[in-house]
Amino acid sequence: MRLRDKHGRFITDLRVSITDRCNYRCVYCRTGNEGAIYSDLPMADYLRLVRIFVQLGIEKVRITGGEPLLRKGVVDFVRDLSALRTLDGQPLDLAITTNGHLLPGLAAPLKDAGLRRITVSMDAVDPAKFAQITRVHNGFDNVLAGIRAAKRAGLEPVKVNCVLLRGFNEDQITEFARFSRDEGVIVRFIEFMPLEEDRVWSPEVVVTMDEILATLNRFRPVRQLPNALSETARRYTFDDGLGEIGIIAPVSHPFCGHCSRIRLTSDGKIRTCLFSLFDHDLAARLYAGASDAELAGYIRAVVDQKEARHHIGEPGFEKPSRSMVHIGG
Ligand code: SAM
Repeated sequence: MRLRDKHGRFITDLRVSITDRCNYRCVYCRTGNEGAIYSDLPMADYLRLVRIFVQLGIEKVRITGGEPLLRKGVVDFVRDLSALRTLDGQPLDLAITTNGHLLPGLAAPLKDAGLRRITVSMDAVDPAKFAQITRVHNGFDNVLAGIRAAKRAGLEPVKVNCVLLRGFNEDQITEFARFSRDEGVIVRFIEFMPLEEDRVWSPEVVVTMDEILATLNRFRPVRQLPNALSETARRYTFDDGLGEIGIIAPVSHPFCGHCSRIRLTSDGKIRTCLFSLFDHDLAARLYAGASDAELAGYIRAVVDQKEARHHIGEPGFEKPSRSMVHIGG
């Protein structure tokens, strides 16, 4: 029986954080003072856990963090994961989300190891603004080189994720539209969610999907592209078909009803939703000597409890017990 929650949703997509460390301090994500909070597991233990998830019906695995490219052994981990097969005998849809800082040297080895897709987070195409957001002064050139190296390595289509904050980088929307067209990458705008270490989120700071579309249309008329139900992004191109923009709108247009995701944190806890108020300690069971069958039974029981939806913006919304960087986005 494939993993399915009590709301009838099949769980096919696992995000696994392989380190809580990050070399960026993005203002909307980190305080700038905190470092890693949670431990990392040995890579062999992530591999054992992912293998069990795959035996239960997981088909897509996204490696994330923290910053996953900081973790020694990430290329070997990709190679090991690429040898796994889904219940239908197919290779995994294997992806990484990274800030791209270390990507120039790693894109080709990751592709050779079996990585299928890559998403690079980049919140400005203006180098000065990029430094202001990331609090890293030499980052922009590395990330741009990383995106180009990923394209050269054949990790296509390269996706570039940008979180928009009002009064900060919404002036980058048109610049990113040009970037998508010039560089041949899919740019995806993400609505800012209340998942930051500091308390900077408010509904007013969120640049909504409708506003993003209005700005894009002023640049050039957009038209919508078809997308799968479980896909988080609504996809658009321009009137001439050049460039692709995705908009991920969990705040203004929630898509929880089609959620197929589950997360494993760097310290081996399962999170059934980004906005969960607690974790489920899979690693504790692993280290207590549980068999694969026992771990699989625990995973099934946890998935069954997956929340129906998040409650962002509703009265009584409670902030989740971890921020994005400590969950794995
Ligand atoms: N370090 C990697 C990276 O930069 O992509 C992976 C981890 S990072 C936490 C994953 C993604 O979460 C990034 O694209 C980041 O922009 C996004 N993110 C972080 N905080 C967010 C928030 N409060 N709302 C929406 N997206 C957020």
